[in-house]
Amino acid sequence: MTTFDAIIIGTGQAGPALARRLVDAEMKVAIIERGRFGGTCVNTGCTPTKTLVASAQAVHMARRGGEYGFSAGKITVDMNRVKARKDEVAGLSMRAVERSLKTLENCTVYEGHARFRSTREVEVDGEVLRSSKIFINVGGRAAVPNIPGLDKVDYLTNSSMMDVDFLPRHLVVLGGSYVGLEFGQIYRRFGSQVTIVELGPRIVSREDDEVSREIAAFLGSEGIEIRNNANCLSTMRMDGDVVLQLSCSEGPTEVRGSHLLVATGRRPNTDDLGLDKAGVKLDKRGYIEVDDELGTSVPGIWALGDCNGRGAFTHTAWNDYEIVTDNLLRAAHRRVSDRISAYALFTDPPLGRVGMTEAEVRKSGRPALVAKIAMMDVSRAVEKGETAGFMKVLVDAETKLILGATFLGTGGDEAIHCVLDAMYAKAPYTVLQRAVHIHPTVAEFIPTMLDDLMPLP
Ligand SMILES: Cc1cc2nc3c(=O)[nH]c(=O)nc-3n(C[C@H](O)[C@H](O)[C@H](O)COP(=O)(O)OP(=O)(O)OC[C@H]3O[C@@H](n4cnc5c(N)ncnc54)[C@H](O)[C@@H]3O)c2cc1C
Repeated sequence: MTTFDAIIIGTGQAGPALARRLVDAEMKVAIIERGRFGGTCVNTGCTPTKTLVASAQAVHMARRGGEYGFSAGKITVDMNRVKARKDEVAGLSMRAVERSLKTLENCTVYEGHARFRSTREVEVDGEVLRSSKIFINVGGRAAVPNIPGLDKVDYLTNSSMMDVDFLPRHLVVLGGSYVGLEFGQIYRRFGSQVTIVELGPRIVSREDDEVSREIAAFLGSEGIEIRNNANCLSTMRMDGDVVLQLSCSEGPTEVRGSHLLVATGRRPNTDDLGLDKAGVKLDKRGYIEVDDELGTSVPGIWALGDCNGRGAFTHTAWNDYEIVTDNLLRAAHRRVSDRISAYALFTDPPLGRVGMTEAEVRKSGRPALVAKIAMMDVSRAVEKGETAGFMKVLVDAETKLILGATFLGTGGDEAIHCVLDAMYAKAPYTVLQRAVHIHPTVAEFIPTMLDDLMPLP
């Protein structure tokens, strides 16, 4: 048995940074990884998908050459090269994480599957490690629904999509949320026929209605078929095709394609971690229960990143690392509840979101103001020829504090940070209103649009 000052399970978005900080604080650290260094974001999530988004956008823009005054000739997509580019970019990050950990003094890297043996002991490949401080950063994986026949059709997930080096003739995507929409648009732009099958009445149902409608409109204009209110009852293979039987009120009850991507959510990697041996409590969905400072039900054990159910993004996992280390090393008392919800959907154009949606503001019952501008009225969007979408800001009518914002449109994933920072500063919207932003940018319109705040009807 080897004793450490700290054990970290998983090298996702929180683990490696945590290891560095703990080593800096003169602790002897063990970090354990069962798969590829860097976890989901680096290998099967953000980095590879955003690299594919960039390839797909380049193809799309080349096809639109005529609108901009050039012709790129016949566009052909070489999927081997697309994949090679994606592998190169993701591989760089993965190797950087691996190298940085393996060369970190006072940090021992174990490659294998970790399981708790007790509240203080973790076993990896027969070796027992002991510590009074254990940090769980095990992330999650694709959740696969229990649909009859699904196990027999050789479906894809976000992980196996990473090995695709060919163009699916017809990609059927089960799930019309963030992951499914990004992959759907990517492959449509590469040249696949794409059908998105969504159980609910609209795609990205966490967002406001008008967001779902606008995204459906621009995806539809690119030739993506979206089937809402479509409950997949069963799947099977027929003549080489994958066939989905649907229960739906509109449209055919059968969808057929060459490949099926299951994008129906995520589940935490907590099922084979021996958490029962440590007495760490899980919630009903298998996420590790944590308090506001990310401590679990067992003192001396923390859970960071996707596995704690308090965030599902790289930046939230990273923020978890900051909270835990600042509290541990500097007695800072940082809390998860101080975090403002912020994320993006990287379709093209992207969706940048912070704070509350309009639906949430309405539900809260507080008096609110709203300002909205169509991207058609934003000069930078017009100049770029990318006018889909809108920007919307919601303000508390009494306190003048910003409640939330939705920027769906070109540059929306970047411009939204102006609003986010004002929210963190707890500044009233009038501060943002008087800021002079650079022309011509998408962000330029944020101060101006606040002049048109109206009571939320
Ligand atoms: C397709 C897709 C696209 C995404 N795009 C974005 C995006 O654009 N922006 C964004 O912010 N987020 C995005 N995300 C979400 C983001 O990837 C995750 O929120 C983030 O990676 C979570 O990091 P984490 O540290 O919690 O865990 P992970 O990155 O999942 O890392 C967990 C690590 O723990 C290891 N592990 C698990 N169990 C054990 C064990 N028992 N023993 C040893 N090691 C173990 C795993 O192998 C893994 O390496 C995307 C996700 C997907 C699926």
